[in-house]
Amino acid sequence: MKWIYVSALCGAVILMLFCFFYSKVKTKKNVLEKPMRRIMIFAGISITANCIAVLMTSKFYALICYAIYHCFLDAFGMALLHYVRLYTGIRAKNKNGIKIMGISALIDCLLLLSNPFIKIVYDCVLISDKYGHFWKVTDRGFLFLFHLAVIYSFIVVSFVTLIKKASSSPAIYKIKYVTVAFMVGISMAMNLMYMNFDFNFDSSLVCYALMTCAVYYFSILYIPRGLMEKLLFFTIANMKDGIICMDIDGKCVHFNKNADIYCDAYNDFQAIEQQAKYMFRENVGEGVTEATWESVRRVDGEMHHYTLEYKSIFDNHRCYLGCFFIIHDHTEETNKFSAEKYRATHDMLTGVYNKEYFCEKSSQMIRENPDTSYYIICSDVKNFKLVNDIFGVETGDNLLKKIAALLQEVIPENCVYGRLSSDRFAMCVPKDTFNESVLLKRIRKIDSLPENTSFKIHIHIGVYEVTDPDIRVSVMCDRANLAIHTIKDSYQNIVAYYDSHLREDFINEQKVISEFENALKTKQFKAYVQPQITAKDGKINGGEVLVRWLHPDGMIPPYKFIQIFEQTGLISRLDSYMWELACIQLDKWNKEGRTNYYLSVNISQKDFYLLDVYEVITSLVKKYNINPKNLHLEITETAIMNNPTEQLKLVSRLREFGFLIEIDDFGSGYSSLNTLKDLTADVLKIDMGFLKHTENREERSKTILRMIISLAKSLDMEVITEGVETKEQVDFLTEFGCDIFQGYFFAKPMPIEEFEEKYIGTYTKV
Ligand code: C2E
Ligand code: CA
Ligand code: CA
Repeated sequence: MKWIYVSALCGAVILMLFCFFYSKVKTKKNVLEKPMRRIMIFAGISITANCIAVLMTSKFYALICYAIYHCFLDAFGMALLHYVRLYTGIRAKNKNGIKIMGISALIDCLLLLSNPFIKIVYDCVLISDKYGHFWKVTDRGFLFLFHLAVIYSFIVVSFVTLIKKASSSPAIYKIKYVTVAFMVGISMAMNLMYMNFDFNFDSSLVCYALMTCAVYYFSILYIPRGLMEKLLFFTIANMKDGIICMDIDGKCVHFNKNADIYCDAYNDFQAIEQQAKYMFRENVGEGVTEATWESVRRVDGEMHHYTLEYKSIFDNHRCYLGCFFIIHDHTEETNKFSAEKYRATHDMLTGVYNKEYFCEKSSQMIRENPDTSYYIICSDVKNFKLVNDIFGVETGDNLLKKIAALLQEVIPENCVYGRLSSDRFAMCVPKDTFNESVLLKRIRKIDSLPENTSFKIHIHIGVYEVTDPDIRVSVMCDRANLAIHTIKDSYQNIVAYYDSHLREDFINEQKVISEFENALKTKQFKAYVQPQITAKDGKINGGEVLVRWLHPDGMIPPYKFIQIFEQTGLISRLDSYMWELACIQLDKWNKEGRTNYYLSVNISQKDFYLLDVYEVITSLVKKYNINPKNLHLEITETAIMNNPTEQLKLVSRLREFGFLIEIDDFGSGYSSLNTLKDLTADVLKIDMGFLKHTENREERSKTILRMIISLAKSLDMEVITEGVETKEQVDFLTEFGCDIFQGYFFAKPMPIEEFEEKYIGTYTKV
């Protein structure tokens, strides 16, 4: 029996040695490698020690060997627990338990090692049978129980940990843990039996050896059967891309959910097969082993963008095995990219192209069609800032959207249009498709804001004909905008064409603007007066104050700067200054006792937006203590009719204060008779344009003039006709009942001093 036992132990040690060295050769960087070898070494030493103990002839040496055997069993237990914790990934939260177990093992080892000398743990006796003698452990005392408790605690904790791990693992992995746990359990049971029935030999040692082999196998070599297939299956199922695998006969072998969605196949292999064959025919072709293509499909009501890939599969001998399709849905990236591109090329408010993209597209169109002549057409909303200011940004935004929509409507197909900046839009159209009258008709539709206010919107158009395609489109737009700049009369003329003089004019304008401040400071603006002659007695009681810019380089007439100052808003400062000059003059005359002389000043329509006209003028009058009757205020009819509700109120307040109100340039606007209906003024100043007409269509014009004069009279208004140049005009105007004349026939505007010198206190006979 002894020799069977010894042979079994030797066999176990040889098996372990084999596993040990095999693992050294085969294993590559595995965290379990070291703990696993430690188990083998400790188990190997303890089994060898037990084997030698059995073979010993001396009792003392047998006890020494048994001590080594038991000590290494402790070490084995510890190594097993350490390994199990790593293998399962389960670690006890209570670190103290492990510490106590370690200390107990240490104490146990000390006791065991002292046992050959003092025999307090156990003793051994010589057993003899027909095969020979051997030393058997006997007289196990209380301390041996302590040793058992130590070694079993390691084994029980390891066993429980393995079972716990097995119960929470997927079925395919359970066997890994259950087998090791089983071996641990068997070893423990065998050992218990050996103790309990007092067998001569401890056969549990063979189980320990088998357990170490199982540990080696499962930690290093074992891969669960079907694992690869399952892993691949689930990997493919969970892929974001769609996959279709086909065999050598073109039969669908496997596909995932996303491929099913793409093919709209509802899990039908045949439908997938058909789709795959169709894709192959359309995008791959016979003999091709790899191909990529794009496709767009509607899935669940939404457009999706795909990149598809085809690949043939060959084995190591280049034999064709089958093929697969990968379907990559890149809708999100594409949408993101399109949104980004849209943001970079479009105006977010109106949805039309932004300046950069408009220029790029126009330039491309012009270059690609060298035989076509193009117009670059720009639009500008007059007083857009006022719209924002008075009605709020939202109304301003709505207006811009309206204009963008209008562009979309009027522009012929395949033309480019966009928004250049706040209220400026641009389009690039072939010259022969551009229809000015259609555009004008549509533009006139946007003439008032949605709030039903009477604030009129004026959109001006500048046209630049592309003569040199190499000029940058942004420069062409600048030129079209320059043309807009030349539109003086905001109401009738709304389209202007660029010509090369415009650049010069523009430069002049910039010069005028930049010199304004200094001119005002250094008193370069002078008041000239043009006398007004009373028809009935030829008396001159006053005249119109007209500004002259006495620039160091020579006098600049108003037509060269008034419009520019109106556009830039500088006019209000100039007008306030001119009104003050008039007041100073009236004050001077007052002090000289010439209290019946008057001066008439111009109020620009912009003044009403930029100034509190009432406040400024009444303060001046108070400041210089002037009779307001002597300060006549010339307001153009268009200034009033642009915003009648406000302006009519203001005019009546000014009249109540005592000013004499004159409607200037009557007849130049387009709603003259309307103005008369609503406005109560003192004087009607008929525009000299009327007189010009009389030369062409003499009788008709004269009739109209006569009617207007008599209409004014019946409304209790005085009539001044300005621009009177001939004796003949004086005569028929006198006959029609005109009260006052102003014109070159009598006198041109002159410096105020000259006016004083010539007319104050004198009489001129007609
Ligand atoms: P307006 O108010 O209609 O002034 C009359 C213009 O007609 C003056 O031109 C005057 O010189 C001109 N005129 C007078 N009689 C005749 C004539 O018989 N034949 C011809 N061809 N022209 C005649 P002016 O001084 O060059 O002023 C032009 C415009 O500039 C004015 O037209 C007025 O709108 C504006 N303006 C002049 N001074 C001021 C000012 O201080 N403030 C404002 N806001 N505008 C002013
Ligand atoms: Ca005037
Ligand atoms: Ca006038």
